[in-house]
Amino acid sequence: MYSNLKMVSFRCAEMGTDCTYTIIARSKVELLRNVRNHALRIHGMEDLPADLAKKIEVAIKAG
Ligand SMILES: [Zn+2]
Repeated sequence: MYSNLKMVSFRCAEMGTDCTYTIIARSKVELLRNVRNHALRIHGMEDLPADLAKKIEVAIKAG
């Protein structure tokens, strides 16, 4: 398996939505990109605001 790969996850609810979606990726950069895609497609955001991106970085949990 890929035991040397650290997975990071983020729950969309931590953005203040009532969404139950959890985003999982192999790196912070990939996770942020996935969160952004999700926010744009599912929540109709035009872009991820910088302060929200920061909030996400803080909320990201490794494991
Ligand atoms: Zn969501």
